[in-house]
Amino acid sequence: MTLVPAQQNLVSDWLARLHEAGYRLTAPRRVVVEIIANSRYVMEPQAVYLLARQRSPRIGLATVYRTLEKLEDLGLIQRIHRPDGCQAFIATVEGHQHPLICRRCGRVEYFSGDADIVTRLSQHVAEESGYTIQEHWLQFFGICSECRRKEANSE
Ligand SMILES: [Zn+2]
Ligand SMILES: [Zn+2]
Repeated sequence: MTLVPAQQNLVSDWLARLHEAGYRLTAPRRVVVEIIANSRYVMEPQAVYLLARQRSPRIGLATVYRTLEKLEDLGLIQRIHRPDGCQAFIATVEGHQHPLICRRCGRVEYFSGDADIVTRLSQHVAEESGYTIQEHWLQFFGICSECRRKEANSE
């Protein structure tokens, strides 16, 4: 398993993609893009909104939702699974990557899913089921090493 380093310069890539898709890049929308592209943590729309308001005081929550929706449509961010059904997003990094999400601090790391056990599992499922597997959706949830260290120290 290979951990993927956090990507630099997602912001300019994303702005270019939004522009290509014909999305008008107003200043408040840019702020939303910058916040989520630079975050290494799970972001809820409300948290994006609170941060965005510090830089763009007149931004509305609807703008935040619409910008997040557009980023999701373009596959630049992905929703994380939440048992409570609340929305939360993380950046999608290039290539075949699976996110690891810390339940305690919300930190996100990614590891490469190429030619690994996940690919083998996918092949196994295809053989057993007779399906042609086209994609899979895999997110890991747990407690990151830093949170585990803090926990151990407080005991
Ligand atoms: Zn953590
Ligand atoms: Zn995979």
